[in-house]
Amino acid sequence: MSNKEQNKLPEIFGCNVFNDATMRERLPKETYKALKKTIDEGASLDIKIAEVVANAMKDWAIEKGATHYTHWFQPMTGMTAEKHDSFISPTSDGRVIMEFSGKELIKGESDASSFPSGGLRATFEARGYTAWDCTSPAFLKEDANGMTLYIPTAFCSYTGEALDKKTPLLRSMEAISKQALRILRLFGNNTAKKVITTVGAEQEYFLVDKKLYQKRTDLIFTGRTLFGAMAPKGQEKEDHYYGSIKERIAAFMQELDLELWKLGVPAKTKHNEVAPAQYEIAPIFDTTNVATDHNQLIMDTLKKVADRHGFACLLHEKPFAGVNGSGKHNNWSIATDDGHNLLKPGKTHHENMQFLIFLTAIIRAVDLHADLLRLSAANAGNDHRLGANEAPPAIISIFLGEELTEILEQIEKGQNISAKKREFLEVGVSTLPQMRKDTTDRNRTSPFAFTGNKFEFRMVPSSASISGPNVVINTIVADVLCEIADELEKAEDFNKAVINILRRIIKQHKRIIFNGNGYSKEWVEEAKKRGLPNIKSTVEAIPALISEKAINLFEKHKVFSKTELYSRYEILLEDYINTVKIEAKTMIHISKRQIIPALIKYSTQIAQSISAISNVGDFNTSTQEELLKEITDAMAEFKEKLKILEEALEKAKEIEEDSYKKAKYHYEVVCKSMEQLRKVGDYLETLVDEKIWPMPTYSELLFRI
Ligand code: ADP
Ligand code: MG
Repeated sequence: MSNKEQNKLPEIFGCNVFNDATMRERLPKETYKALKKTIDEGASLDIKIAEVVANAMKDWAIEKGATHYTHWFQPMTGMTAEKHDSFISPTSDGRVIMEFSGKELIKGESDASSFPSGGLRATFEARGYTAWDCTSPAFLKEDANGMTLYIPTAFCSYTGEALDKKTPLLRSMEAISKQALRILRLFGNNTAKKVITTVGAEQEYFLVDKKLYQKRTDLIFTGRTLFGAMAPKGQEKEDHYYGSIKERIAAFMQELDLELWKLGVPAKTKHNEVAPAQYEIAPIFDTTNVATDHNQLIMDTLKKVADRHGFACLLHEKPFAGVNGSGKHNNWSIATDDGHNLLKPGKTHHENMQFLIFLTAIIRAVDLHADLLRLSAANAGNDHRLGANEAPPAIISIFLGEELTEILEQIEKGQNISAKKREFLEVGVSTLPQMRKDTTDRNRTSPFAFTGNKFEFRMVPSSASISGPNVVINTIVADVLCEIADELEKAEDFNKAVINILRRIIKQHKRIIFNGNGYSKEWVEEAKKRGLPNIKSTVEAIPALISEKAINLFEKHKVFSKTELYSRYEILLEDYINTVKIEAKTMIHISKRQIIPALIKYSTQIAQSISAISNVGDFNTSTQEELLKEITDAMAEFKEKLKILEEALEKAKEIEEDSYKKAKYHYEVVCKSMEQLRKVGDYLETLVDEKIWPMPTYSELLFRI
């Protein structure tokens, strides 16, 4: 970044966003007011207003050099999709004018048939439509395509079934707003118009040299290394974490920040992560749907800018065995529309009661629906992380910190105790100490940690959209808030009812609170005793989506219909199967076309060396002979394991009838066969001449930047 750019930062930030300031400047006052009402209160948008907005948006975009616009949406692939239309409209005299109508802004038609629909297509039309999400601002993206106006949209089937990740997210935000408002009204807040959930997603990623990346078939096809012996050095010295950022990386990060700022993504922190070649970027939090859009833009921009700097950016959860993988920390909170964070402990007794109601509602929600939360973080990549000796474990628990845990214990014990003690309790609660951040955020091993004024869900996969986890958190919390509101609205003595609810929840759900080391073996044992689920794999996690409990929950809050849940269930299974299948095929390809030929070449060289030396005289060739034996033995074993994998994949074709069975088979049989093949392959790598080994090694990938 030049000095000039630096000085202009406040101008650069959001310069490509049709944000509030731009809208205020460019829209007639009445239009601005009407649009703002739609954005803030979810009122429906009049087509006449949309016409004016579309026109202003078009003028702004064209002034900045845009020729096209796109309805940007988030299909179930987890990536984003776009179809570009130009603004041109022919006139009768053979020329064109630039046009963009209100209708084109609010609604677009799209052929949904090539996106995963999990069977929805069979029952509904193939056509889908995209609808403007005006709560996430439109923006301009500049790339080799030129400048394009991006309109964030939701993607539905013609009959209104969600085909994307955004629609349920918006529905879940509405659900939690509705229930949280009921609670706020009970506590006497009559001013808040809506409750929003806020999210700040920290994103981890790896950077490797692009030239090396291009020589790794596995990275290209699967995003992770399928073979690779550990380098002599890993992350044991922890010298990479927060270490000084290398020049080449720093240049990349600077451009990344700049690109993101232009898009209005408030990139804030960047640093080296635990594993070598691993980094993190975190933006400042925002409303959940905006934060979700921003995270998609971050992933997209990471890849694009990396490429410009001669890197490949790996977003996979576990690109390298033996060092840490990547995740996202989904920081989540809930706030009123006027910015009051409801997870911030208050100063008065009244405020603290309200805080504790929200806090315990979350505790109950997480304990009741640990299975759904676990599922929301499940994908094939994360199976290599969660519970596999690394952050975080597969068991869902909540970290509250000592202070808060003690307060909850006091509240719980308050039952049936003398008036004097109760008084102490009440004082105890009303003087809830100001949480100091550093005392609440020490535990990095918890999957769901309270960090002073928000919860941090640390299981989220690095490559996936954060929509799923937030749909689950929003909905499960909405459901418990609904229960609580039902009870409190009927209560004769409000304060007493609040205390009763707190006590009951703490008693019922304290098993989910755990402040110790989540990575320890003891915790696995302890969690089992407490009856907490330990769901080790994606395949085991997926059925939670269509349990009766889940169907009731999501239907009640209008987040998913039963049909939508079943379609998503199918999509998840399908995605899992495809991921494993591609990995297995890639492994077979690499084994046959790269590794075995290299092994033949090297063993022949050794054999030739033995005979050449023996021809000259009676010299000691035991080194070569031993090595040759080791290699040829391991080679035979490698070939055998390869055959097992090929057969496993072949057999998978026979299981057609049931996608769950098929996914389970891929997990239990195909993945196991892959692991076994890799073990022998990695051993062979340690025996073979570096120059003959057919792909860049971990040493090069992780340390040569
Ligand atoms: P760390 O986890 O490294 O201690 P921070 O505490 O700085 O990091 O915050 C991490 C993320 O949490 C940032 O993206 C930040 O914007 C976000 N965050 C802070 N407050 C909230 C909130 N009220 N709601 C949601 N996210 C928040
Ligand atoms: Mg964090």
